[in-house]
Amino acid sequence: MSDLIAEIAVNAPLKQLFSYQIPEVLQQRICVGTRVRVPFGRRSSVGFVVEIRTGAVDGLKAVKELLDEHPLLNPELIRLLRWAADYYCHPIGQVIRSALPAGLGSEKATTRIQFETVYRSLPVVEEPGGKKQRELLAYVRQQESAGLTQLRATFPAPHATLKRLVELGFLESAEQERQRDPFLLEPLPKDKSLTLNSEQSDAVCELSSAIEACAFKSFLLHGVTGSGKTEVYLRTVAVCLDLQRQALVLVPEIALTPQLVARFRARFEPAGHTLAVLHSGLSDGERYDAWRMIARGEVQIVIGARSAIFAPLQHLGLIVVDEEHETSYKQAEGFRYNARDLALVRGQQQGCPVLLGSATPSLGSYYRSQQGAMTYLALRKRVHAGAMPAVELVDLAEQPPEGVLSNRLTEALQQALERREQALLLLNRRGFAPFLLCTDCGTSFHCPNCEITLTFHQRERQLRCHYCDYKEPPAEVCPKCQGLNIVPEGAGTERLEQELTELFPGARIARMDRDTTSRKGAHQRLVNQMLAREVDILVGTQMIAKGHDFSGVGLVGVLGADSILNLPDFRAAERSFSLLTQVAGRAGRATGGGKVLIQTFNPEHFALSCAVEQDYAEFYRQEIPFRQELGYPPCGHLINLVLAGNNGSQVKASAERLAAELLCQVQGVDVLGPSPCPLARLRGKSRYQILLKAIERPALRSLLTRIDAAKKHVCKGVGLVIDVDPVDMF
Ligand code: ADP
Ligand code: ZN
Repeated sequence: MSDLIAEIAVNAPLKQLFSYQIPEVLQQRICVGTRVRVPFGRRSSVGFVVEIRTGAVDGLKAVKELLDEHPLLNPELIRLLRWAADYYCHPIGQVIRSALPAGLGSEKATTRIQFETVYRSLPVVEEPGGKKQRELLAYVRQQESAGLTQLRATFPAPHATLKRLVELGFLESAEQERQRDPFLLEPLPKDKSLTLNSEQSDAVCELSSAIEACAFKSFLLHGVTGSGKTEVYLRTVAVCLDLQRQALVLVPEIALTPQLVARFRARFEPAGHTLAVLHSGLSDGERYDAWRMIARGEVQIVIGARSAIFAPLQHLGLIVVDEEHETSYKQAEGFRYNARDLALVRGQQQGCPVLLGSATPSLGSYYRSQQGAMTYLALRKRVHAGAMPAVELVDLAEQPPEGVLSNRLTEALQQALERREQALLLLNRRGFAPFLLCTDCGTSFHCPNCEITLTFHQRERQLRCHYCDYKEPPAEVCPKCQGLNIVPEGAGTERLEQELTELFPGARIARMDRDTTSRKGAHQRLVNQMLAREVDILVGTQMIAKGHDFSGVGLVGVLGADSILNLPDFRAAERSFSLLTQVAGRAGRATGGGKVLIQTFNPEHFALSCAVEQDYAEFYRQEIPFRQELGYPPCGHLINLVLAGNNGSQVKASAERLAAELLCQVQGVDVLGPSPCPLARLRGKSRYQILLKAIERPALRSLLTRIDAAKKHVCKGVGLVIDVDPVDMF
């Protein structure tokens, strides 16, 4: 008997699709992309229809139930996901699941209408007594009415104060259907009308013709910080909308790029376009609503981080990837895709141009533009003031500092304070000190689960593991020699903040790192304080190097620049160059010029000297021969196999057998290792890695097809992770 068969991706860690018969009653309603329930083994499972064909149905089980009336995924998206599952060697069911908003992969989806309390100010002239009450009231008055969610994002624990204000008759409250994402309720800035400079208009011109051609073409927009890249995105998105097509804009992290989102909204919302912003602050329900709106074609622009690459837009006209060099585009666990790379694949599949933008392009993208595989567009000048900041290295070997700050940097800070300029200090390590040390016997304190020293956090008086979050109180007595001389060694942002407070008692100092921004809205508050010039010196981790347009910053200082340079990673130089150039670009955005001081023990290193000159081309010229010689990306391709398990010797033996099995299987692939991972123990598991390296990708792909068979050499209890195009190899 020949009939309709559905090929279904089941939510299970299995690579293959499963065939099911489609019962008569469902034949009209099932299509590619719909969610169904199917019998699976002894249970039933949720799956997605990825293909429908005719064939012999004998012996096939039937689809049990259709879960949604409308498909959640369109055929173009299914195509992208199937491609990704194959390329990243990950089970298709799980790939689909991670592409969807949380909850949709398994449960029956429900749109939830949410209610919340909304506060309105009443016409009362006098002021309430408490400071907190006054602040809250002023905020509500300014907004006219404000929902609880929004208030919570701006004020910590506002509940009691609100209640009091209602009792006192300053506010009234009502239950209302929650309609909009609280994130979008922030006051909208005015759109600036600008005349493009010649470099910008050349770029827009080239991009416009590609958008009008409605065909795939890839572009690298290489523009120094403050050169007006965002304005180029805005103009090209406008071209795309004029053609009744939609635009997808990827950013590394929404929370760190509120200004970009605001500029898009200011430009396009007044013209009646609808934006969807997909960010991590959305609840599952909100995410689901946004997803459905996009799928129904009601949204013209989607802005989101990594996973927005799977947004179900039907008529894509342009994909923009901002800060394309950012490693956060790569998912670090589970389905380890790279959204930047998938953007290029999606553009190819759906026939639309893809624009990658950065002040410091990844070596890979620049390489491809050099090879002619990508069109190179450059913005060489800053829009305002013109001058790039003057960057200077401070050689720590020549003038070792007493504390964390060198004399040179201390002087520069003093001058900046006198000139009423703000300063940014980057130290890429949070906590007070990276370890505690017994100065009598040299004992330091390690995480019991990970091979890493515990970071000392002074405010909480805790030793913490930054990988697994293990915590213990700091020892007062050395457990080994009973000595009492236990001191914090090295410096983190907390210590730097303290040192600054002692050095500059009059200055207003703030800190921005994962510890101070974990509370909702905390990051935005710090940004607002910086913008309002309520902070003189902002200390922070690389978080402060991202995206912000702090116009008052005249001085940028970098401490611990060497910590990234010394990482055991072939991209260490690239990372350092990129971070230093980005953070240097935060100086003198409005005033022009500005000063950047980088403290280092490696003043001779080309990554640093090129960052001093802000010379990307020179950095590339010096770095690429290393990659070529070693066959590392972008001159070759990598797959990292990571084995991890509780039993160290089993992990090692499995890794050895797997490597031996893979060795000599395919010509043109180097099998390196096994060797212990740089983090040889993590969260209680021992870890080994095998690196597969090839100049030609097909050779590597062909070896990948044999991994499944070779897996039998891996012991039970040892996990194997296949990381295609790894960006982080710890
Ligand atoms: P980038 O994204 O490259 O860092 P932005 O697009 O944020 O740079 O531009 C920096 C600043 O210059 C912004 O305040 C922007 O509004 C302004 N700007 C951009 N293009 C122009 C222009 N053609 N004329 C005047 N101001 C501009
Ligand atoms: Zn740990």
